[in-house]
Amino acid sequence: MAKLLVWSRDKCVFCGGCVAVCPHDALILHSKELEILSGKCVGCGICVKGCPISALVLEA
Ligand code: SF4
Ligand code: SF4
Repeated sequence: MAKLLVWSRDKCVFCGGCVAVCPHDALILHSKELEILSGKCVGCGICVKGCPISALVLEA
């Protein structure tokens, strides 16, 4: 089963870096919300590495 991507609203600075690096177009940045499209996310973790302040984590 794919890992669950969890976003921290309190940490996020809304830079859009994660959206830019996701190869599956699974992230949409809104003004105060990062939308994770669970149907597209494959749990690869590329966005986790791409986030400068660790506002995204993968949970088992
Ligand atoms: S874990 Fe991979 S597929 Fe899911 S949002 Fe991040 S980069 Fe995209
Ligand atoms: S890369 Fe990190 S800080 Fe930037 S929008 Fe994504 S979750 Fe927020």
